[in-house]
Amino acid sequence: MARRSFVAGNWKMNKTPDEARALASELRAKLEGYGKCDVAVCPTFLAIPAVAEVLRGTSIAVGGQNLFWEKSGAYTGEISGPMLTAAGCTYVIIGHSERRQYFGETDETVNKRIKAALSHKLKVIFCVGETKDERLNNVTEKVVRKQMEGGLAGLKAEELASITIAYEPVWAIGTGLTATPAQAQEVHAFIRALIKTQFGASAADAIRIQYGGSVKADNAKELLSQPDIDGALVGGASLIANDFEAIVKAAK
Ligand code: PEP
Repeated sequence: MARRSFVAGNWKMNKTPDEARALASELRAKLEGYGKCDVAVCPTFLAIPAVAEVLRGTSIAVGGQNLFWEKSGAYTGEISGPMLTAAGCTYVIIGHSERRQYFGETDETVNKRIKAALSHKLKVIFCVGETKDERLNNVTEKVVRKQMEGGLAGLKAEELASITIAYEPVWAIGTGLTATPAQAQEVHAFIRALIKTQFGASAADAIRIQYGGSVKADNAKELLSQPDIDGALVGGASLIANDFEAIVKAAK
């Protein structure tokens, strides 16, 4: 099956609402009407309304960088699925390695967040990936398998249609180190095989698997031309409109 590419920008904890609005306007000018792949940007919670307003009516979607699984209540500092959708989001990133590393995210909490997102009709970008030590110790597949099984526990095959997997080797995020296309392809194929075992061949065939980890304008084309790499989750380079445009246009 030909899968449509999907490039998403994770703006992390960058840009005030005014700065985010300016970046969104630049992207709108560059990518409005570009129909060859799906595109989304994920600003901070605070900047989502401004960005959603600028991108309304375009093909560029907006996503959150996280959510909490309850709808509302006494959960100081948290944001829920209905709040994200009301603010204009159609996507949410879940299980990013920075959430796992700095904010105590576990496979179990990732699973709760994914289920909550789906119940509120948000599409999920679900991140998995190994650390440098894990790669050096040859346990990449074991680690990714555990994250995949834990994160997707209890989901039905049809729910996978609303999920994109982002394979992001932790050692490549924000470091300037990139997995070689062959290294990335190997893990992407492994992830697709896991989906096949757990959810069947048609779910495996259809699911999009993004690569993330220092994707730049000059390495995007080679990475994105691998058979099981269906797009990119882009951090640093998504903050520069020209660079993000070049990555989007490198997607097959
Ligand atoms: C990310 O945060 O998802 C990411 C891939 O970051 P960077 O592109 O900066 O490595």
